[in-house]
Amino acid sequence: MASGQRRGRNKPRIPRAKYVFVTGGVVSSLGKGITSASLGLLLKQRGYRVTIMKADPYLNVDPGTMSPFQHGEVYVTDDGAETDLDLGHYERFIDESMSKLNNVTSGQIYERVIQKERDGDYLGGTVQVIPHVTNEIIDSICNLARSPEKPQFIITEVGGTVGDIESLPFLEAFRQFYLLAGPKNVLFIHVTLLPYIAAADEVKTKPTQHSVYRLREIGLQPNIIVARTEKPIGREQREKIALFCNVSPQDVMAARDAESIYEVPLNLEKERLAEIVLKKFGMKAKEPQLDDWKKRVDRIVNPTRAVNIGVVGKYVGLQDAYKSIGEAFIHAGAELDSKVRVKWVNAEDVEKNGAEEMLKEFDGILIPGGFGSRGSEGKIAAVQYAREHKVPFFGICLGLQMAVAEFARNVAGLKNANSTEFKPRTRYPVIALMPGQRMVAQKGGTMRLGSWSCHLKRGTKAFEAYGKELIYERHRHRYEFNNKYKKPLEKAGMLFSGVNPDEGLVEMVELKDHPWFVACQFHPELKSRLTNVHPLFYRFVEASLEAKEDKDTGTE
Ligand code: GLN
Repeated sequence: MASGQRRGRNKPRIPRAKYVFVTGGVVSSLGKGITSASLGLLLKQRGYRVTIMKADPYLNVDPGTMSPFQHGEVYVTDDGAETDLDLGHYERFIDESMSKLNNVTSGQIYERVIQKERDGDYLGGTVQVIPHVTNEIIDSICNLARSPEKPQFIITEVGGTVGDIESLPFLEAFRQFYLLAGPKNVLFIHVTLLPYIAAADEVKTKPTQHSVYRLREIGLQPNIIVARTEKPIGREQREKIALFCNVSPQDVMAARDAESIYEVPLNLEKERLAEIVLKKFGMKAKEPQLDDWKKRVDRIVNPTRAVNIGVVGKYVGLQDAYKSIGEAFIHAGAELDSKVRVKWVNAEDVEKNGAEEMLKEFDGILIPGGFGSRGSEGKIAAVQYAREHKVPFFGICLGLQMAVAEFARNVAGLKNANSTEFKPRTRYPVIALMPGQRMVAQKGGTMRLGSWSCHLKRGTKAFEAYGKELIYERHRHRYEFNNKYKKPLEKAGMLFSGVNPDEGLVEMVELKDHPWFVACQFHPELKSRLTNVHPLFYRFVEASLEAKEDKDTGTE
């Protein structure tokens, strides 16, 4: 019977694969996501097929409705799922595309259970956390294991910290999973913190012991402890943790604070994480191929040059809001052997203090995605500054929309041109909802989400960057370029370098008489990976480096 139709208390059937569950203890933000992604990389580089799932205990169905100020960036997959930003780390590390199957939330699980209850699927039974909610969680892991890529390893990371009320159904589901799949196929990794007490000059193991006690109360015995620590730990501490946590000393891994997150897999390789995981599964541990990764990490940590980029946005208070942009810059820097110093500039400060004052220090200016009118005039002023001063400019999503509005106003003579998102009755709605969208818009859910194709014009900077005509990029927005204005803007010198071949929607614009002025309606940052840098970020940073070198040598 298909998993979706399984009723009542029937036991779920577990697909053949190896399952690793990653839990967190003591405090949040310990880097469970990076640990999971690192293990994924270390297994993949040994030739295994790996996928990673994030189980989020919150009740939102997905993070799409959460404020970026609270939750950070919403990460969009090819299939249009709005997911947790940890999926971005997974993709950037293991260089595989995630899908909606890779993120599950309590909200989704309960939604499915309640829907089945309404459909009468439970045949009059009492619907309970155990087994109905836990079975649904188990199913979601199995569904990922059954995906066409046929992963050999499924790493599941659960959000939050052991002891949180809302993560209990997940941990209980993992306990049952262990019983169903058997000890040969399931491993538990617990990521904890060893706080350093300066007065005693010691790292303390007690919080880790307590966290493992809590896990054991729930019925889970970790096989491996990954201990985050600011100071190195010696044999004595490893033995102590091992003794109290019921593991052997070699299964205690020290995860030292690293200069770059991309160093973490290399550090965990030294701790023999993947080798121990494979041994515990009774599998052969081959040597991993990490040369390329190492080379890039070396350039991140010891770059020979530097460039200054200003990102003019709205959510600058919380860097996680633009997580993937920050990471894409690191990837470009690793490729170009340059540090990319990113400064986040509040668009409202540009309104207050003027573009010249706020932006003159930068070699390149980027305007990222965003929603709502606050700061939009500051963004338009930033575009104007970049265009007029010939500073390399990169507009992403809202950044394209602002670039179009600026050009329409100041070059094409369409006075006060704007997006209808900010001025619904604007005289020149250069950015607007599409006719078919307007009705739906009133009902709420209307975003263009996920992967769409784009056809690039030869001879443009866009084509030069990608080196091909047909590309696929991920979207998350409502408003579009209004094709009514294509002709007048083209006449004024704007180049429409990328268009969706099916709907005729404008996906990329650029300017000719400018060193590098490119904007896209999609989010390229979501597809950049350390070993596979996004071509637009690469070209933008390269152009900014050239601009800097010209400035430094005075050859304007
Ligand atoms: N607010 C704009 C829109 O909905 C841009 C969205 C974005 O930048 N992601 O179209």
